[in-house]
This record gives sequence, C-alpha cells and structure tokens, in this order.
Amino acid sequence: MNIPSSLADKIKSARNVFVFTGAGVSKESGLSTFRGDDDSIWNKYDPEINATPEGFYSNPALVWNFCRDINLFTHAKPNPGHIALAQMEPYYDTFTIVTQNVDCLHEQAGSTDVVKIHGTCDLIRCTKCGHRAPASNFDFTHEFTPDNLPKCEKCGALYRPDIVWFGEYLPEEAINRASAALQRCDLMYVIGTSGEVSGGYGFAQHASAAGATVVEINPKRSSLTYFADYHLAGPSGEILPLLLDILKNS
Ligand code: NAD
Ligand code: ZN
Repeated sequence: MNIPSSLADKIKSARNVFVFTGAGVSKESGLSTFRGDDDSIWNKYDPEINATPEGFYSNPALVWNFCRDINLFTHAKPNPGHIALAQMEPYYDTFTIVTQNVDCLHEQAGSTDVVKIHGTCDLIRCTKCGHRAPASNFDFTHEFTPDNLPKCEKCGALYRPDIVWFGEYLPEEAINRASAALQRCDLMYVIGTSGEVSGGYGFAQHASAAGATVVEINPKRSSLTYFADYHLAGPSGEILPLLLDILKNS
C-alpha cells in the first residue's frame, strides 16, 4: 500500500496522538470481532443474553461459559499492529491508546498509556463488594454450572467479568483520561472498530471538528469513515508497521 505523502507529513509533524482501537486490531492475534466479519461473535451469540447485566443475573453459568467459548481469558499474543503502535509512542509528546478491547495486548506489546473504556479481562470483580481478583487465579476452561460459579474470597458473592456490558456506565476514570487525550490530540487513529458502540462516534467527530487529522485503518468502511481524512483499507497488522517506518525513516 502507498501511504499518501500528505499523510506521511502529518504523521511526522503531529505531537499528540489519540489512538482509538476496537476488536479489529486484535483480529490478527486470533480474537474474533463482534461485528463486521463472517466469524463475528454476534453472528453466533445473542448479546442481550450474553453481554448484559440482566442476562448475567438470570443465568450466570451461561455467561461464564460464553466468556470461555469466546476465549475471553485467552493467552493470545500481540500482533505486528499492536507492536508497531507501541514503537510509535517515543516519537510523540503524548501517545494515548483508548481501547474498547478488554484483552491486554496493547500493554503486552509495550504501550504505556492505555485507557480501557470497556474494562479488562485479566480481572474479575465481585458483584456485591466490588473486590477484584486476577482472572488467572481461576480455571476458565471447564463447563460452568450453577454449582461451580466463581465466588468472592471476601464475601462469598458471585464474581463477574470486570468488563462493561451493554447498558452499563463506562468507568469514570477511563473517560476522564480519554477526554484529556481527546482535547490535546492533533492526530487520531481509528483502528478496527465498527464505531457502533459507545464513545467512538463522539471521539472521531470531536477530533475532526477540532481540526485534528483523523486516519481510519479498517479493511471495511465503518460508521466513523465519514469523519476520516484518510481511510487506509486493510488489516492493521499490515498497515501500522508501514506507518511506523515513516517515523523511523524521518
Ligand atoms: P466490532 O467487532 O464491532 O468491529 C470490528 C471492526 O474491525 C470491523 O469494522 C471490522 O471491519 C474491523 N476489522 C476486522 N479485521 C480487521 C483487521 N485485521 N484490521 C483492522 N480492522 C479490522 O468491534 P468494536 O468496534 O471494538 O466493538 C465491539 C465491542 O466488542 C467492543 O466494545 C469491545 O469491547 C468488544 N470486543 C473486544 C474484543 C477484544 O478484547 N479483543 C474482541 C471482540 C469484541
Ligand atoms: Zn465480595
């Protein structure tokens, strides 16, 4: 792919970068997206049952089994897209990754300023007292039944994944950090997101209106393409290393 020279100039001259990522950035690590691909998770599972508080409280074993089936607690590895993003960071004054992903692949790749607006799969959280425990303390490979659900060591109540389900508030601290990064950014990457859930639409719209350069990386068009100055059509694991080369060669 040829990167337009006008975009290469913007990449080199930007100082504060806001990267907004979705499930697509982890696709090349073997994790399925929720929408937009043939093997997307919501083609096979009902989000109302598997990813809402109502679904969880009416049948927690079913939701824990869903988390196991989609490899929520997986040992996936960062792909060249995550790694290129981590290596871009030192070239800028600030480089904030705001991710909808609950995997930990940005952190594992070495990115240091990662804001997880939908929670994280390396923790589980008590539904009563809020105590958090490492997910790695538990075995998520077996079949869950009402008799073997993970329970809080502190108070005995049910544990739940420490992720944001449909209809739940986004974590306040994460939104505050994302807002601060949004105010200062002069370059925004929108990577691997359909833009159909929460904040995304607002982030891209705000950055575009404020005069930042918005670059979308996605094999398909999305609801955010409208706000993009550049749409780079292809997998992020292939395109992001090309953008890193622009910085390395400058
Ligand atoms: P989405 O599933 O709605 O959209 C994925 C997007 O990625 C699509 O537009 C698709 O065209 C694009 N895509 C597919 N392959 C790609 C590639 N190789 N490179 C770049 N883009 C590619 O994802 P979303 O917008 O993040 O929203 C869904 C919600 O699902 C999020 O809230 C997120 O928390 C959650 N989710 C997370 C993970 C994860 O943590 N890895 C996985 C699935 C879903
Ligand atoms: Zn508890």
